[in-house]
Amino acid sequence: MQLYNSLTASKGEFVVPTDRPVTLYVCGVTPYDTTHIGHARTFMTFDLLVRTLRWQGGDVRYCQNVTDVDDPLFERARRDGVDWRDLTENQVRQLVADCDGLNIIRPTFFPRASQEIDGMIPIIQRLVELGHAYEREGNVYFSVRSDPNFGAMARMGYDDLLATANQRGNNPNDPLKRDPLDFVLWQTGKPGDPSWESPWGMGRPGWHIECSAMATRYLGPQLDIHGGGRDLLFPHHPCEIAQTEPVTGVKPFAHVWMHAGLVWLDGEKMSKSLGNLVFARDALKEHGPNILRWYLLTTPYREEFFYERAEVSRTREPLGLVEGALAATSGSGTPLEVSRQRDAFAAALNDDLNTPLALAHILELSRAILAASDDARDISTAQATLREVTGVLGLQL
Ligand SMILES: [Zn+2]
Repeated sequence: MQLYNSLTASKGEFVVPTDRPVTLYVCGVTPYDTTHIGHARTFMTFDLLVRTLRWQGGDVRYCQNVTDVDDPLFERARRDGVDWRDLTENQVRQLVADCDGLNIIRPTFFPRASQEIDGMIPIIQRLVELGHAYEREGNVYFSVRSDPNFGAMARMGYDDLLATANQRGNNPNDPLKRDPLDFVLWQTGKPGDPSWESPWGMGRPGWHIECSAMATRYLGPQLDIHGGGRDLLFPHHPCEIAQTEPVTGVKPFAHVWMHAGLVWLDGEKMSKSLGNLVFARDALKEHGPNILRWYLLTTPYREEFFYERAEVSRTREPLGLVEGALAATSGSGTPLEVSRQRDAFAAALNDDLNTPLALAHILELSRAILAASDDARDISTAQATLREVTGVLGLQL
């Protein structure tokens, strides 16, 4: 299978191991707002990867985390006057319901950062021992100058790295830092925020270290595939790499880094901060899972997706064709042979999950079945193949 790898900025052969499961880690949500289409697209991308690997005989061990130790969650809990644990509980329940509704396969492991603090502290301690991190007044920072390759996957110079980090939550003016790009491994936190005991006093972990701890605990020191949304290409994922590799002593931390393109709505990136969200729950209620899935698969996962509310329902037409082919009457004439279309479908997915091409092959197969049905040929095997390949795309027809 060919997969595009952000680490090498190229497509490369991913050989599915036969003697052990494929390990896949995907960065999950901070549970403070309901699942929107941007999340849904990212999770659907990795759902499709899992389905494709399993279809081809691979075993997959899939870990997706919940970032329930994070400023936006605590701020939302304070604003609404609720306990952050209750907020997490409700939001995770909603997320699971939304993903189930979209027929997204549940991960093998679904850990929460708040339950994994004991795995983070030893990693931070080791980074301090190795000279990659330093403590200042109860905070511990990763020293980006200690890693000559820091941020390499982002392919940017220092100034652009810093500007991007600043847009995504970095505080360059923290006077305790040696370098404005240094990132937090442990912090004292705001008074009233949840905190845990540590060798540096009461506090809580930084966001990046949470994923390193959970990924290595559940999947081991080296992952086959690490994924997430495109916005994690910097700083989150390079920070994970910088803090994990010195501690495990294994490079690369993940063989393949996959990033799903972001979703745009009406010309702007769909994001909580802009408030232009389409919630998965609402879209599901309006269109149902099959239409929504088909629509989201019409663009390759790496490209940005331009969500147009008026366009979603147009998917009804191709889906109707497939449903018609599945319901067509089989005759007793020469059986319709469709192994060529099945192979072409598999080849499309094996080419870095080329979903538009896979959908085109499904339509071609459907038309062939309808034509053969008109000629009273035996289409039962072809229909079984059609059901099989639509199932790989997570369609429930
Ligand atoms: Zn992560």
